[in-house]
Amino acid sequence: MKHRSEHDLVVLGSGIAGQTTATTAAEAGLDVLLVEKQPSLGGSSAMSGGWFAFSGTPEQAEGGVEDSEDLFRHDLLEGGGHLNDPALVDAYLAHQHAAHRFLKDHGVRFREVAISSGMSAARGHNSEIKDVLATLHAAFAAAGGSTLTDTAARRLLTDDGGRVVGVLAEGPDGPVELYGRRGVVLATGGFSRGTEMLKVFAPEQLAAIPYGGRGNTGDGLRMAWRLGAGMADMSFVAATYGSHPETGEEFHELLTAYYMGAIVVNTAGRRFVDESIDYKSLGRAVLGQPDGLGVQVFDSRVRAQSHRGIPLKDMDALEELGHLHEADTLEEVARLAGVAPGELVATVERYNAAVAGTAADEQGRTGLCNGVGELTPIDAPPYYAYPAKALMTTTYCGVTVTPDARVTTVDGEPIGGLYAVGEVVGGFHGATYITGTSLGKGAVFGHMLGAALAGTEPQHGNSSEQEEVAA
Ligand SMILES: Cc1cc2nc3c(=O)[nH]c(=O)nc-3n(C[C@H](O)[C@H](O)[C@H](O)COP(=O)(O)OP(=O)(O)OC[C@H]3O[C@@H](n4cnc5c(N)ncnc54)[C@H](O)[C@@H]3O)c2cc1C
Repeated sequence: MKHRSEHDLVVLGSGIAGQTTATTAAEAGLDVLLVEKQPSLGGSSAMSGGWFAFSGTPEQAEGGVEDSEDLFRHDLLEGGGHLNDPALVDAYLAHQHAAHRFLKDHGVRFREVAISSGMSAARGHNSEIKDVLATLHAAFAAAGGSTLTDTAARRLLTDDGGRVVGVLAEGPDGPVELYGRRGVVLATGGFSRGTEMLKVFAPEQLAAIPYGGRGNTGDGLRMAWRLGAGMADMSFVAATYGSHPETGEEFHELLTAYYMGAIVVNTAGRRFVDESIDYKSLGRAVLGQPDGLGVQVFDSRVRAQSHRGIPLKDMDALEELGHLHEADTLEEVARLAGVAPGELVATVERYNAAVAGTAADEQGRTGLCNGVGELTPIDAPPYYAYPAKALMTTTYCGVTVTPDARVTTVDGEPIGGLYAVGEVVGGFHGATYITGTSLGKGAVFGHMLGAALAGTEPQHGNSSEQEEVAA
């Protein structure tokens, strides 16, 4: 006999998307069940850098940052190659302030505002992400929400009309049927750990370092797919450039010194890309280099911009790990990092000439990040080298949804009772991802959906099981 329980809402996945949805809905009075496949909560969100992208915030105003909704929209559509769904982009912009407010009302402090991949203005808002998740979960529990860990959703349950009414899951004591009167929310993340899915959609990315939440194998995508869900952005999966080959899982080791003035060279000592472009495109470029390696080379000016404890900027911690090489000359730092010394010296000379305006830049680079920011020469010793690879953190593609987060079929019809938020959703990013828009997307759409579902009348139906999804 299977265990069975019934709730107003069942939310699958406990990253930022699931937790924001669940906490919002529980605080609005719904009986919500949060289901997590892993023994602990958090998924990729808990491993992330904690950057959320918002425009028009008090934090930006305090830092004197000039930004606007229009510029943010422009960056999202331009970065997405105009292949993203403008209705999803507009929904993000329309609901971003409510999510920002919700997070701050739950004690989240944005400790730094910075420019990063794909941005034309400083709109990355950095948080202590593990604390954010813990705080949201405490609020969820206080509002009466229940949580099941070690419980993997396997297939969606529908009524005779095809409406999703629950999910069959595998818990520590065997199968459980979990019903949601207002539906089921997929917040199961992407498939950065889903080797089989990567083989189908992005086999060239299997060369990147596998990363992300251990449970992120694309389960939600497959369950929705079985019900006829559409897919978007599947061909744009790309790893993020900037992690040491021996990166661990406990510590966030991504460095973007190239947005502060570093160049990136291959082991032959040659540049091969404009280092100011988004770090997903850099990831693609690096995968094509010998050993999939790109070495960030910079001088003391860039080193001085290290910010301890801030992901993407913390060179001090990398030095302590022994992953950052330092030397008084370019030749010596090249030798330490396994780069051809003579060629590196020549590359830096050409780069410095381009920065001084006496020659064209060989990769067409004109700014630090996304064309913004003044370049500086690499000529102030000591010199530094950080060998780095592409890291498969996230997949950013997935099921098609309406702007109010209802999953749609390949024909564009909403699937009754089925919602999706977070990384499992496709169509928002298009060709590439802008820093902070994935945690942002989880929080913005999760908060919007949790509130909307709490205002929705419950729907009832007879459940009948769909065909089993391949495990
Ligand atoms: C190192 C790193 C740094 C990053 N930095 C940033 C950043 O600074 N800013 C940013 O915007 N993005 C960043 N990202 C990306 C971002 O963290 C993720 O895209 C985002 O957190 C996804 O949130 P989510 O809630 O959709 O999924 P997740 O946080 O991955 O949560 C999904 C959860 O669902 C669970 N799950 C999966 N299948 C099932 C199932 N069948 N049943 C039940 N549960 C299931 C998983 O175990 C997981 O816990 C980073 C990612 C990594 C790995």
